[in-house]
Amino acid sequence: WFDEIPSIATDSTLAAMEACKADTHEKKVDLSPGIYHDDNSSTWVLPSVKKAREVLLADKSLNHNLQPQNGHPGLVSVARELTFSDTLDGRSIASMQAISGTGANHLVARFLSDVLQPKTVWFSNPTWENHREIWRHVNPAINQRNYPYYDDRTSTIDSQGMLSTLRGHASRGDVIILQACAHNPTGVDPSRELWEAIAAVCEEKGLFPVFDSAYQGFATGNIDNDAWAIRHFATRSNGTMEFAVAQSFSKNFGLYGERVGALHIVTRSNESAAKAEAKLKKIQRAEITSTPSFGAKIVATIVQNPALREQWQQDLQTMSGRLQDMRKRLYDELTKRNTPGNWSHLLTDIGMFSMTGLSPKRVAVLRNNFHVYLLPTSRLAVPCLTTGNVEYVAESIHQVLTV
Ligand code: PMP
Repeated sequence: WFDEIPSIATDSTLAAMEACKADTHEKKVDLSPGIYHDDNSSTWVLPSVKKAREVLLADKSLNHNLQPQNGHPGLVSVARELTFSDTLDGRSIASMQAISGTGANHLVARFLSDVLQPKTVWFSNPTWENHREIWRHVNPAINQRNYPYYDDRTSTIDSQGMLSTLRGHASRGDVIILQACAHNPTGVDPSRELWEAIAAVCEEKGLFPVFDSAYQGFATGNIDNDAWAIRHFATRSNGTMEFAVAQSFSKNFGLYGERVGALHIVTRSNESAAKAEAKLKKIQRAEITSTPSFGAKIVATIVQNPALREQWQQDLQTMSGRLQDMRKRLYDELTKRNTPGNWSHLLTDIGMFSMTGLSPKRVAVLRNNFHVYLLPTSRLAVPCLTTGNVEYVAESIHQVLTV
């Protein structure tokens, strides 16, 4: 029955991770996954999460019932609060728990494909590779187009290219995917002025913005700063913009395998919000019936308990602080060696990732000869650097660029 299935290439992030797993070289370094590790290369369980688990497991009434159709009420409420704070006063919104960021991106794509029926969805060039896959999977008839984003000659945002492409080529009812902070894969975020200009283009052209918020807390260590763009969209033009936010708690709570996320649709009226919510429930019913509950309870417990929330803020600082430290060390090691290239962006990039600018050929040499794994796009995952491997990584990059 299945002989005719065409062979399918594995997604490049998963392929790099698998290749590294199979590599037995003692010095191998996997710089491909977007997963926070501590300085011993272990996946970190946040102290706030450990405490929340204890609280939950000590509760004799803990059960494993199905959740309400919108998801765990506590999770939905804290997801809104972390995203919007009080900027939604008086606005109408539909929120649903979702299967982490991937599930939230899928849910919004399914929802918009059905109700908005956009001709085109716009992605930053480059973007998280799964964005395209999710939209193709949901509706291959929707055109996928890129707006310029990263200028690899300067390692900065091509603001003019981005705005003029959207002004010149986007059409009313198109969807635009925006990453709220700590852009994957470039590590470069719009300035506040640029966010204002992007919002203005969305209004002028009648585009529907979808924020992908997968790294709140990873850009600056502060959840309010990292939600600035979303809150700007929520409040500008007297709170009349309609948009969506696909939110993940994988990274900022270190709950990768628990699949905790949410989707918010910000609308103009209570009637629209109620209709959007009914539609989202219908999709979730057909696809998953109910969202997973344990991770959701962990997030809700932490955010609703002042002491645990305080601990979580410290955990975010620990993670973003280690990332900054590793960026500085890699920068120092490369500049000490006079490695060709301009590396100063390593110090100013934000969040988990940076582009090294290596050609695909050099990425392959780095992998084959030095056992250091980047993505083919040259993306390097900063949390996988440690004090134990950063010198080796820098020396390997240096060799690849000079020999
Ligand atoms: N959006 C972006 C930009 C991401 O980088 C990721 C994870 N790599 C996700 C969404 C989805 O993450 P998850 O499904 O693990 O929450």
